[in-house]
Amino acid sequence: LLNSLMKHEKLETVSHFAASVSHELRNPIQSIQGFVQLMKDHEYSRDKQIEFYDTMLHEITAADQLIEDYLVFAKPVSGKLELLQVKMEIQQVLKVLTPYANWEKVTINLIDGGCQAKIMGDRQKFHQMLINIIRNGIDAMPDGGILTIRIKEKAPSVLILIKDEGCGMTKEELQRLGEPYFSTKSKGTGLGMMVSYSIAHQLSGEINVQSEKGRGTVFTLEFPTAQ
Ligand code: ADP
Ligand code: MG
Repeated sequence: LLNSLMKHEKLETVSHFAASVSHELRNPIQSIQGFVQLMKDHEYSRDKQIEFYDTMLHEITAADQLIEDYLVFAKPVSGKLELLQVKMEIQQVLKVLTPYANWEKVTINLIDGGCQAKIMGDRQKFHQMLINIIRNGIDAMPDGGILTIRIKEKAPSVLILIKDEGCGMTKEELQRLGEPYFSTKSKGTGLGMMVSYSIAHQLSGEINVQSEKGRGTVFTLEFPTAQ
């Protein structure tokens, strides 16, 4: 009975998410539809066109982010397990995130201390978790700043510290972190941290957060090392 109850709950969660994700996707899609229609029906100045294109790009990015956050969560069963070298994986993630960081005037420093630690896990999910957390750090510094990532071996674990000097969180915000749809951003999905916690759990790891409003935040990720 317990088992079937749990399955039922899971199904309910999934269908709840499916419904709300499709609902949230409708907004950006309708907005893009509106702009395309406008541009088809009227002659606009180049400046106006650029303004419309920028809005559409923004909406497309928001929709894409939503799908990405959601899809990872909807596939909770781990895919391929691989031996991942933490330092190399973080370097790959930074390649993806650097253009975004530059655009937001954020410098990312990676201090790996020559750490060679490996963990066992699904590469795509490990990346997704890091991307969600690092992106939040970038978002927390609207005027730019420095984001520091430190890798430390602490046998039998490896620690990844992700530190920003951004807006920080109040006690209440900290408590709600990871709650589905909790977001303080105008275009936030409030799914990124929930997904990250879920992935950390799948990787037998843990996420701890220290934050001070107005000062910044440090995420400490801890995973058992493999081999
Ligand atoms: P989203 O980024 O779409 O808002 P997340 O689940 O990724 O959703 O994050 C939820 C909320 O947690 C954010 O809206 C923000 O208020 C807070 N948060 C997460 N990371 C940080 C951070 N590094 N600094 C300050 N606030 C953060
Ligand atoms: Mg986020």
